[in-house]
Amino acid sequence: MGEQQIGPGRLLLENPGTEEQIWVADGGEDHAGWQCVSTDPFPCPAAGCAFVAEYMTAAHLILVWEERDDPNLLRHAERAKKVGRNPRVVEYAPAFGPSASYYAWEAAGRPVHGIRGK
Ligand SMILES: [Zn+2]
Repeated sequence: MGEQQIGPGRLLLENPGTEEQIWVADGGEDHAGWQCVSTDPFPCPAAGCAFVAEYMTAAHLILVWEERDDPNLLRHAERAKKVGRNPRVVEYAPAFGPSASYYAWEAAGRPVHGIRGK
């Protein structure tokens, strides 16, 4: 532990108006047993992006929280509920796709879009 691993969470991030950045999330870390939020499918908000998420994601990575009762998890689930995304807190499994810890995402400046759209 302690060594930075580059795993499947490594994605290109396009930032309008700035140079392209790479956000290296902690996707190499094993988040199995963490909590994520399953939702009804919804498209990536970035224009021209065809990615459709079935979990609460950021930059196409499934956001995970260590604790099921994390207030940030509950807040995001509540917000998803209000917009009709039918959120359900489920235990994350690596088969769902690459993940990123919510707090790593927040520390990275909350990037929202991870794959080149053009
Ligand atoms: Zn996208």
